[in-house]
Amino acid sequence: MRIDILTLFPPAVDAMMQESILGRAQKAGLIEIRTHQIRDYTVNRQKQVDDYPYGGGRGAIMQADPLYRCWQAVCDENGERVHTIYLSPCGETFNQQHAKRLATYEKLILVCGHYEGVDERFLDECVDEELSLGDFVLTGGEIPAMAVADAVCRLVPGVLGGEECFTEESHWDGLLEYPQYSRPAEWHGRSVPEVLLSGNHEKVARWRKIQSLLRTRLRRPDLYEKITLPNKTRAEKKFAAEVEEEWENYGKRAQNAENMD
Ligand code: SAM
Repeated sequence: MRIDILTLFPPAVDAMMQESILGRAQKAGLIEIRTHQIRDYTVNRQKQVDDYPYGGGRGAIMQADPLYRCWQAVCDENGERVHTIYLSPCGETFNQQHAKRLATYEKLILVCGHYEGVDERFLDECVDEELSLGDFVLTGGEIPAMAVADAVCRLVPGVLGGEECFTEESHWDGLLEYPQYSRPAEWHGRSVPEVLLSGNHEKVARWRKIQSLLRTRLRRPDLYEKITLPNKTRAEKKFAAEVEEEWENYGKRAQNAENMD
């Protein structure tokens, strides 16, 4: 997969994207993340990319033309018109379903805005979708672009150890992940749940599934209400009943723990 990021701050984006797992995946040739300086596509000596908003008001707007030239050059380099995303607080809120879908593209262009945003005509002409990182406003699109690139690239085959690295994580199947623990077994008077020390893989898997359901039900009722637990076979009925039983105390325990902290 190749991702081209159009930005006023290529070094900031490069520094992050060349590190750790994504850096190694790039060295291994599994993904390619390139940044492009929008200012290099201006035709004025000051390399100015912004101007005042028509109709008045504060701040500056990124002009359509430098962005267009930069976008066009990147499409030419790719040899085709590439699916283009503008990071914007006005976009759809980005989630794991978007990441899954975007990971099926071979090429993507991510456009980072700045100042008060981008001339709408560039968006109309070149952008296929707008994605937001959440209901807040940042100074620029670089952090959202890096978040999208990271979430998408880690789904590319080979970037992580195996598929289970992401299929067993939060949001893959609409649930939050179960609690995780590492050594030591006792820390600050807090113990690791006994079942995790039992070596019984079946019991561990069942405990994790239940914890995942309970945590989602407590913290994200909006996600939980979209889940239907299978309830046909005797084993499924038993499992569903166990979840209900655990739920009785789970909320109370979580509330107590929060009060103690
Ligand atoms: N005036 C714009 C508005 O009210 O919608 C906000 C502009 S913001 C200060 C500058 C740039 O940061 C935007 O063009 C966009 O690229 C990026 N940005 C800010 N918040 C964002 C968010 N929540 N998600 C994605 N991009 C964001």
